[in-house]
Amino acid sequence: MHEMSLAQALVDQAVELVRLDGCSRVLGVDVRIGALSGVMRDALEFCFPAAARGTALEGAELRVTEVPLKAMCRDCRIESRPKPFEIQCPHCGSMNLELSDAREFKLVSLEVE
Ligand SMILES: [Zn+2]
Repeated sequence: MHEMSLAQALVDQAVELVRLDGCSRVLGVDVRIGALSGVMRDALEFCFPAAARGTALEGAELRVTEVPLKAMCRDCRIESRPKPFEIQCPHCGSMNLELSDAREFKLVSLEVE
């Protein structure tokens, strides 16, 4: 499963960070998932505990922030939040949009003991 490898990568990254920091236990993990990242939040939340088992992250809370897709219309200059596959300005109908980077999937911070 795609999300299992993402959860594993997330755990590996966090384990490395706490190791460098000299901490032994992680209580919470904050991640950001962009609307176009392709990461399924539910699947990631489901896989995370299994990936964390036996590591410093075991029992840690996974806190997900979903980052919406944002578009700035180059014609009417109004910012909107279009759906990923219907990219059009809802105000003037223009397709001339500047999209935010919603493909991110990253570890933002760790709460350590
Ligand atoms: Zn517009």
